[in-house]
Amino acid sequence: MPSVCYDVVVVGGGPAGLAAACSAMEAGASSVVIVERDAELGGILRQCVHTGFGLRIFREDLTGPEYAERWIERVRELGVEQRTGAFALSLNADGRVKVVSATRGVEEIRGKAIVLAMGCREKTRGALAIPGTRPSGVWTAGTAQRLINVEGYLPGRRIVIAGSGDVGLIMARRLHLEGAEVQGVIEIAPFPGGLMRNVVQCLEDYRIPLLLSHAITEIGGRRRVEWVKVAGVGPDLRPARQLERVIECDTVLLSVGLIPENELSREAGIAIDPKTGGAVVTQYMETSLPGVFACGNVVHVNDLVDNVSDEAIVAGREAAAFACRRSARVGRWIDVKGGDRVRSVVPQRVSSAGVNTVTLDLRVTEVIDHAVVEVATNDRVLATHKRRRVRPGEMVRIPLAASHIDSVPFECGSIRVSVAHSRAQGGPVGSGN
Ligand SMILES: Cc1cc2nc3c(=O)[nH]c(=O)nc-3n(C[C@H](O)[C@H](O)[C@H](O)COP(=O)(O)OP(=O)(O)OC[C@H]3O[C@@H](n4cnc5c(N)ncnc54)[C@H](O)[C@@H]3O)c2cc1C
Repeated sequence: MPSVCYDVVVVGGGPAGLAAACSAMEAGASSVVIVERDAELGGILRQCVHTGFGLRIFREDLTGPEYAERWIERVRELGVEQRTGAFALSLNADGRVKVVSATRGVEEIRGKAIVLAMGCREKTRGALAIPGTRPSGVWTAGTAQRLINVEGYLPGRRIVIAGSGDVGLIMARRLHLEGAEVQGVIEIAPFPGGLMRNVVQCLEDYRIPLLLSHAITEIGGRRRVEWVKVAGVGPDLRPARQLERVIECDTVLLSVGLIPENELSREAGIAIDPKTGGAVVTQYMETSLPGVFACGNVVHVNDLVDNVSDEAIVAGREAAAFACRRSARVGRWIDVKGGDRVRSVVPQRVSSAGVNTVTLDLRVTEVIDHAVVEVATNDRVLATHKRRRVRPGEMVRIPLAASHIDSVPFECGSIRVSVAHSRAQGGPVGSGN
């Protein structure tokens, strides 16, 4: 099998892979390659024709393809090599990536350091086990988005959307604008799954109904979807069958969650966090396998592409440092764990070496008004941050000072991040101490 070696091999050419590759080159790597299974670079952004990308990084309101193009131009300028139409089949613990493509067949690409940026995939009907017949017309929201925005097909005319994640919300608006009748978005939780800005801009602005605490209980139809049954759910999320009603439709879109694509990581023996579904990483975005870094949706599902680019820049820089043997960091590692009302935290391991502050990204379990985010050891609160409102659909970002990491006693190898309701409401919002 032919074999070739680079300083840094980046798997995945979405916004995470693009930013990581640029950052690795800028940090001194002499050769970087992006391996992308699709025919073109850009990842999921190629099908996101709405605006809302790059508000922080470029201070502009770009569409997905425009945002991707900015990074693709930079990749070209910096001389990053591109292998498109190339699928990474496996990763070995010593940095060998087996790749297959129509043009080169199977080859081995070795990296002195590796960046994993494979993104995530959508949950399908199988994961939900919705009863009923198996007619055509049941799509994941992302597939429907690709059909409309890339292939130019309308997937249906009377649509019900299951799940209020961002993809589902954006598709509700897109289908409405294309002339389809969106009957409603059905969400089992008592709160929306996506960003509030998308609830307002995609549903409320177009008077598309959002049914919270409701579930689709059955899909019916012979060849094509003809109806769905919908029922309210109680706090135990079980549908109240006596309240079931039928909505006639020809299409059901599922927007019920994303799963980080970690088959390569698992096979290489990289530790996976069951809460995020992504690799356990340090603040340098290094996985449990030295020299293998990860960033973007393959680590945790991000709401904003700017955050993806931020962590990819760190991953690329650190991968270059590892490849050039410049990353001899000494320091003590502290585990970060989610406490009350925190579903997940990234990074899961932190050290004060070489940083002033580490940003922790949290997902909370419920909507909390006047929230206090608390970082603590077993017996001591290290820092608190107030937020006016936190929601499961929006990532909460808090800074953790290196001095707080240093102050963790040696016998205590971990810190816990929890969220509580503020006892004294009305204090300063968004402040930390
Ligand atoms: C519908 C939708 C709307 C969004 N709207 C906004 C918005 O308005 N504003 C905003 O800031 N963010 C938005 N986001 C979020 C943002 O787009 C994502 O967080 C970001 O694109 C994730 O980037 P990524 O590079 O991690 O993953 P992806 O973009 O998914 O890229 C991963 C890449 O890896 C490749 N790959 C996977 N496995 C392999 C393999 N084995 N071999 C080779 N290649 C592989 C894939 O083909 C893909 O190109 C939206 C996301 C979606 C889905």
